[in-house]
Amino acid sequence: LLSVEGLTKHFGRAPHLLRAVEDVSFHVAPGEVLGLVGESGSGKSTIGRLVLRLIDPTSGTIRFDGDDISRATERQLKSLRRKAQMVFQDPYASLNPRLRVRDIIGEAIDAHRLASGARRTERIGELLETVGLPAAHMVRFPHEFSGGQRQRIGIARALAVEPKLIVADEPVSALDVSVQAQVINLLQDLRRRFELAMLFISHDLEVVELMCDRIAVLYLGRIVEIGRAEEISTRPRHPYTRALLAASP
Ligand code: ATP
Ligand code: MG
Repeated sequence: LLSVEGLTKHFGRAPHLLRAVEDVSFHVAPGEVLGLVGESGSGKSTIGRLVLRLIDPTSGTIRFDGDDISRATERQLKSLRRKAQMVFQDPYASLNPRLRVRDIIGEAIDAHRLASGARRTERIGELLETVGLPAAHMVRFPHEFSGGQRQRIGIARALAVEPKLIVADEPVSALDVSVQAQVINLLQDLRRRFELAMLFISHDLEVVELMCDRIAVLYLGRIVEIGRAEEISTRPRHPYTRALLAASP
């Protein structure tokens, strides 16, 4: 579904050149969840943004669903957004406070003309119920919800286009520990139900082992190790992975 070859992203220029992502290659099969782990600044979010083409790569190739999107046209970008969506870290910043939930989710439906009129409203209700919220909540504003509920709304918005891939960038790290497990369980359920592929970004190895089929370990913008989740956690090869495992509870 997604394949990335030699992906590189530099910010700035010499002498202040920052190699945020350097020669990264990986693939994600349909329905597969790949975890990206690594310390702060290792390039995880940058890779997520590159894959969704929210930023341009410096070099390298990104293929998604048969298209080379490394230098995508507007039209290719639109088609990408119809099939790949992001769930953001901070549900307090990622939902427009001026819009009702109906319109937050409705925007995604309208952008791709997926439904209109009564069917549109019905669809918004369905999406809310899919993430465990009552359909009647669609008339409310984001400030009327808890962090966990807001993240559910963010997930409903991502699901509106029936994506094949979701990039989840630390989707629970801004939430109370008590609701983290609920949102992780929801993502697990949705993943199975919709056969979703995911790029799951996290620094919490425990959550990553639970969620992911394979894990890529990033260090200073490079993948130092990639493999099946249980192998990475039980038989890490790279010293940095061992250090990461030793540091996690
Ligand atoms: P965290 O765990 O803290 O979220 P991360 O692994 O997601 O970290 P990135 O956000 O991908 O890290 O950042 C990688 C590097 O690129 C960092 O050094 C960061 O400062 C730098 N960086 C990211 N975005 C930009 C930008 N727009 N301009 C300049 N530098 C950037
Ligand atoms: Mg990040």
